[in-house]
Amino acid sequence: MTARHSYRTGNGVDVHPLKEGRKLVLGCVRFDESPVGLDGHSDADVVAHAVCDALLGAAGLGDIGDHFPATDPQYRDYPGGGFLQRVSEMVGQAGYEIVNVDCVVMSDAVKLGERRKAMAVTIAGHLGIDADCVNVGATTFEGYGTVGRGEVIACHAVATIKTL
Ligand code: MG
Repeated sequence: MTARHSYRTGNGVDVHPLKEGRKLVLGCVRFDESPVGLDGHSDADVVAHAVCDALLGAAGLGDIGDHFPATDPQYRDYPGGGFLQRVSEMVGQAGYEIVNVDCVVMSDAVKLGERRKAMAVTIAGHLGIDADCVNVGATTFEGYGTVGRGEVIACHAVATIKTL
């Protein structure tokens, strides 16, 4: 049996397509002015989903699809904040506390601007950690690819946890 490391890191990636008539929610913050939103079975919050996968990966607990299958009717329109709360509980039950979360949102279609801070505060609230332990960055694809053409929004997240 190998000793369990006191610090562990995981990463997560999520991508959802943009569609007219859908509500846009990123990092549990609503962008009501956006004419397009992310399409998916749940609320399609790519930021929340990528953070969940990073945390689950760090704890060695698989990924979001293992625990909350997209085929399960109970997760239709399910809010990203609900997933974050449940994943935070799972990480705690596995014997870890969250050290920090960093994510990069890839979006040409929607500019995040100052709302990145609100996203970090809201994500931290759902995870039950201090707001300065969550960082939300953003980048564009300079018009290239599916992100650049505004067809999708993507997010990459990294999370570090440590043993309780
Ligand atoms: Mg997703």
